[in-house]
Amino acid sequence: MNIHEYQAKGVLREFGLPVSRGVAIFKPEEAAAAADELGGPVWVVKSQIHAGGRGKGTFKGAPAGAKGGVRVTKSKDEVVQFAREMLGQTLVTVQTGEAGKQVNRLYIEEGAQIAAEFYLSMLVDRETGQVAFVVSTEGGMDIEQVAHDTPEKIVTFSVDPATGIMPHHGRAVAKALGLSGAQAKEAGDLTEKLYRAFTAKDMSMLEINPLVLTGDGHLKCLDAKISFDSNALYRHPDVVALRDETEEDAKEIEASKYDLAYIALDGTIGCMVNGAGLAMATLDIIKLYGEEPANFLDVGGGASEEKVTAAFKIITADPQVKGILVNIFGGIMKCDVIARGVIAAVKAVGLEVPLVVRLEGTNVEEGKEIIRSSGLNVIPADDLDDAAQKIVAAVKGA
Ligand code: GDP
Ligand code: MN
Repeated sequence: MNIHEYQAKGVLREFGLPVSRGVAIFKPEEAAAAADELGGPVWVVKSQIHAGGRGKGTFKGAPAGAKGGVRVTKSKDEVVQFAREMLGQTLVTVQTGEAGKQVNRLYIEEGAQIAAEFYLSMLVDRETGQVAFVVSTEGGMDIEQVAHDTPEKIVTFSVDPATGIMPHHGRAVAKALGLSGAQAKEAGDLTEKLYRAFTAKDMSMLEINPLVLTGDGHLKCLDAKISFDSNALYRHPDVVALRDETEEDAKEIEASKYDLAYIALDGTIGCMVNGAGLAMATLDIIKLYGEEPANFLDVGGGASEEKVTAAFKIITADPQVKGILVNIFGGIMKCDVIARGVIAAVKAVGLEVPLVVRLEGTNVEEGKEIIRSSGLNVIPADDLDDAAQKIVAAVKGA
């Protein structure tokens, strides 16, 4: 689960990390009061969307050369003007894709003087099973580009959970950033606090880009992006409260209510599959035959008829879907349950696109019979290869 920058900074503040003072607003009318509260003399008006690259982003319909989604100003009037220009508009950045994201919240911050911009992130390294730090002097830019062009400028290390964070980790961060003396000490303090925040809140990713050295020589987190481990949300109601559903895919929210593993994709073929491995294979084979999947969906091992019906409704509600492929290998999941779920969903919402069904495994004959006798226009398939070819052909023919 992701949160907004201003919320992430709130979390960092809780752990005593250095962030600027700021006020989140939802309406342009709130901008003047926010600017007054902060007092200036420099303000930063920051679009809050769940995507990076805001500074270099552009608003849809804005004139060429217009300013981006993060603007620094010394004028209170401009704070208000920027708020009017940003709120409600669609910001397109390298991370949003062409469609962009509507800006519904702004964060007005006191402006910081920047002497140097660094990069620092943390993530769970699956290879070592440890929390890893990624640190670079090349802050404020695209870290993937830095990794590609000048990999020697990126320092990484991971923290053994048995010992936890140690002073030498802080020294490694200071060294990577070329800091000494009091600033190195600050880097050590920052490293320790970040690690505590990361583990206490069950984060899966924390990125500070840029981490800056201010004009008066202190470290400050100028941007913050946090992703939380969804599997641990049950023990963090305070984190769940930060969820902004307008930033999430409506279909994915609906799917999460039924505990379905669903990810929306850009293609045209809706997929209903049981088992993550089979679901991945299904996506691959659709691509192999020249079409793109509209989603990843694993209905799970012991899905009920209700769950299958919900899943099918989510797929058909997607206007991008031009065909549906149901691919079930019945082990724990029984083919007749899937068949009943599909029929119930089709009866409820109708079926306007071709549907290919491949069933195999437990109660397969019963499942096939349920579909045959339903009178629905279902294209049966014998195996995965056959099923993929049939749905691709049906979609291309349509
Ligand atoms: P992003 O573009 O979505 O990553 O948004 P950031 O929060 O990183 O802001 C983009 C850029 O705006 C930063 O890299 C800084 O160069 C600049 N910026 C952000 N806050 C301040 C500030 O307080 N003072 C100054 N001078 N620049 C800032
Ligand atoms: Mn940034």
